[in-house]
Amino acid sequence: MGDRNTKLHFATRCVYGDQLRPEEEPTGAISFPIYQTATFAHPAVGESTGYDYSRLQNPTRRRLEQVVTSLENGIDALAFSSGMAAITAMMELFQPGDHLIADSDLYGGSIRLFRNICEKKGIAFSYVDCSRENVEDYIGARTRAIFIETPTNPMMRVTDIRVMAEKARRHGLLLIVDNTFLTPYFQNPLDLGADLVVHSGTKFLGGHNDTLAGFVVTGSPDIAERMRFLIKTVGSGLSPFDSWLVLRGIKTLPLRMEKAQENAMAAVEYLQREKKVKKLYYPGIAGTKAYETCKGQARGFGSMLTFEVESRELALHILKSVRLIRFAESLGGTETLMTYPVTQTHADVPEEVRLANGITDRVLRLSAGVEDKEDLLADLKQAFESFEGCKR
Ligand SMILES: *Cc1c(COP(=O)(O)O)cnc(C)c1O
Repeated sequence: MGDRNTKLHFATRCVYGDQLRPEEEPTGAISFPIYQTATFAHPAVGESTGYDYSRLQNPTRRRLEQVVTSLENGIDALAFSSGMAAITAMMELFQPGDHLIADSDLYGGSIRLFRNICEKKGIAFSYVDCSRENVEDYIGARTRAIFIETPTNPMMRVTDIRVMAEKARRHGLLLIVDNTFLTPYFQNPLDLGADLVVHSGTKFLGGHNDTLAGFVVTGSPDIAERMRFLIKTVGSGLSPFDSWLVLRGIKTLPLRMEKAQENAMAAVEYLQREKKVKKLYYPGIAGTKAYETCKGQARGFGSMLTFEVESRELALHILKSVRLIRFAESLGGTETLMTYPVTQTHADVPEEVRLANGITDRVLRLSAGVEDKEDLLADLKQAFESFEGCKR
């Protein structure tokens, strides 16, 4: 057992969690085993090994949940079959008639869930630019929670988590933070006052573009208990094999985050010099309010960046011309991916909201991977430079 009084450092916890020798693993296996079983035998009536049925809990999933709990400094984490499964289950904490404030620039799938499923169940939403507007103007008698991402997907808006937590507390609301973009390596929302953290584990935590996963993490025993009831009831817990893949991915989280951030910063420097780039959104660009806020609450700026080029034709040309970089949804993996939010990740966001947020048909989003920076820059460069040739 690890000594819980002297918490291990972050990178060590990525490999071992808080528990150096998990009691579930008596064989000494260095790689935690995949407990590929649906059910568990009971020694006798009224006795249990701690495991009954894998929808409720499974040792491999439990191990992953312990690691994620430790990384986010929570008291419990629940692993789901995808980020959307995690957010969908979490939304069951709310009742018909409840009202939530959600940032207007969220992952498109979250907005689709709120608008098409949650609203149907009688939950109302106000979509607010939490990085700029005063959320208190939107709080009413039925308001129960504030849901934010910071930085947001895709426009990289940064919201002050401490300020939001303070406002939420004052009005008795829950603060929910989707921490997918910065991960616990760079940012710990629970330490800044959030009540719940959600993740698409598909992204940086899994980290290899090879599986889907999602998490809900909390520091509240009451919420943890309600979420345990929900994962058992809705049945969207992560499978043993996928739990193992994410456990393995997390072992290299610090290495990947550093390398991907370095690559993103190199791409930012290149794009700043490229005349055909009209706008660049990355919180690590000094001199902006986003930079100051991000610096005040996170240990890094991440590896996601969004940019607007001078024409739709150029945006389409770049997506078609990149070779090493792939045109694909998703982010946070070892491979550099680029996407076109307007028709891909944010196609279901109403057009007026999309345009108000600046998601035009000239906007591209890039998730830097861990390749060699020179190859990445050369690919970006050839994609921009071959455009002139095509026009002629
Ligand atoms: C991808 C993503 C999700 C959804 O996660 P899935 O694993 O794809 O279901 C939620 N939030 C953010 C910020 C994401 O990038």
